[in-house]
Amino acid sequence: MNYSNDDAWLKRFPELEILIPSETLQARVRELGCQIAQDYAANPPLLVGVLKGSLVFLADLMRSIPLPVSYDFVAISSYGAETQSTGQVRLIKDLDSPIHKRHVLVVEDIYDTGLTLSYLLGQLRQREPASLKVCTLLSKPERHQVEVDIAYCGFTIPDRFVVGYGLDYAERYRNLPFIAVLNG
Ligand code: 5GP
Repeated sequence: MNYSNDDAWLKRFPELEILIPSETLQARVRELGCQIAQDYAANPPLLVGVLKGSLVFLADLMRSIPLPVSYDFVAISSYGAETQSTGQVRLIKDLDSPIHKRHVLVVEDIYDTGLTLSYLLGQLRQREPASLKVCTLLSKPERHQVEVDIAYCGFTIPDRFVVGYGLDYAERYRNLPFIAVLNG
């Protein structure tokens, strides 16, 4: 079986419906990387990934940015094993190093209600970075509760619960190479 083919994965996961195929995802991530490389040519950024969902996106994105970037992670509490936001946001893991006067690009998996991003941006802004922007792979406009300024967005998607490419349901499906809707 050739698992570089999305359909082969679906045989193992029949409960899924592909929303963004892996080729489309990869092409868009490369585009975002090119754009970021142009915009930050004079100021290579620190990429701040939000664990755990942004890990796969961050790993691919940074390899499409031909600049001397660094990366670090924060972890913020989110859904747990449920599919609805609890509205509770808390920093579980902080950055390893200071960001004062650094150019910071937050890399997020999905802008859903925006509670996570707006909380995180508030925390990071207090540390007075040279600049602070956001790159999100996905955005669900119908679900936004808080307006967040997004510099780079991969795809806008409908109000469906999605998994894959880092996004989970009860810690499953993060390793799928595509974004899928979970049926049932
Ligand atoms: P927020 O509602 O604060 O914008 O998003 C919080 C977090 O919830 C996201 O970073 C993401 O980890 C998770 N989340 C939001 N929507 C989805 C979704 O459709 N699928 C999955 N797997 N996680 C989601």
